[in-house]
Amino acid sequence: MSEPAIRLSGLTKVYAGGKRALNGIDLEIPRGSIFGLLGPNGAGKSTTINILAGLVNKTGGSARIWGFDIDEHPRNAKASIGIVPQELVFDAFFTPFETLELQAGLFGVPRGKRRTMELLKAVRLDDKAHVYSRTLSGGMKRRLLVAKALVHAPPVLVLDEPTAGVDIELRQLLWDYVRQLHAGGTTIVLTTHYLEEAESLCDRIAIINHGTVVANDETHKLLGTTGDKVLELVVDRDLAVAPPELGSCKSVELKGPRQLAITFDKRRTNAGAVLAMVSAAGLGVVDVSTREADLEDVFLELTSGPKAKNAAA
Ligand code: ADP
Ligand code: MG
Repeated sequence: MSEPAIRLSGLTKVYAGGKRALNGIDLEIPRGSIFGLLGPNGAGKSTTINILAGLVNKTGGSARIWGFDIDEHPRNAKASIGIVPQELVFDAFFTPFETLELQAGLFGVPRGKRRTMELLKAVRLDDKAHVYSRTLSGGMKRRLLVAKALVHAPPVLVLDEPTAGVDIELRQLLWDYVRQLHAGGTTIVLTTHYLEEAESLCDRIAIINHGTVVANDETHKLLGTTGDKVLELVVDRDLAVAPPELGSCKSVELKGPRQLAITFDKRRTNAGAVLAMVSAAGLGVVDVSTREADLEDVFLELTSGPKAKNAAA
């Protein structure tokens, strides 16, 4: 078997101020996957990615990219990965064309093998090839950074929150391009705040919390790890607070004055029994729907409450 695209072992980072951002990350990202790295703000996603990019020095553990250890073979490791950072860093006084040419030069891509216009076209910036980068919109800058990460045709592309602040239409365009790259054989790693995006795009997902991996599985299996089901109700009068505990239900949440979301474990009870408890609590039900737990529910279960604290301890 070939090495995974990325292998992290006991990866640790303590920042200069003493902040422990990574607490021993163990993670394998298979070649050919579209891998989602998820976690709440401050979980350590960018720190992990910035270590791979060579922008942050780890304080412990090891990282291999495409089989190359980042300490022992830094050049090969760097050549194997393209990174789109979360921060919009760009060269204000260069045009997109110049930015890509410069980057290709840094990576030693010979002139004859450069794909500058092809890449600009792929991210729909060919008509902006020769304007100053500082005149580009946020979404265009993001797409320029994607093209820049690809100049040396790396087998692994990492995108850190690529759609943060990018409007819906451009987000779709970006994902279409990412899917196209993946179909062409590129391994994709991304972090995103939009859980539905990760759910529809990624074949594997790891969730990190407080610098530790708390889940790592195929997306469909991760969604199946919870036996939770959610019952959404509209009741017949305004409520100021959610009713306290309802029998064996896991949570009762007030979504609007008359809207309740009740989460229950479908292996222990069922929607009929839950509805009976709602009636017994003196509430009339006007409308009702149920849904299976989605990634958001799994995510919340793993990153909040006592369970998450256990996992992080
Ligand atoms: P994420 O990308 O998952 O939101 P980060 O990796 O950016 O998380 O941050 C992880 C933790 O490390 C946070 O608590 C953050 O405040 C801290 N952190 C990030 N960068 C630095 C830095 N340069 N110096 C000190 N602490 C940092
Ligand atoms: Mg981040």
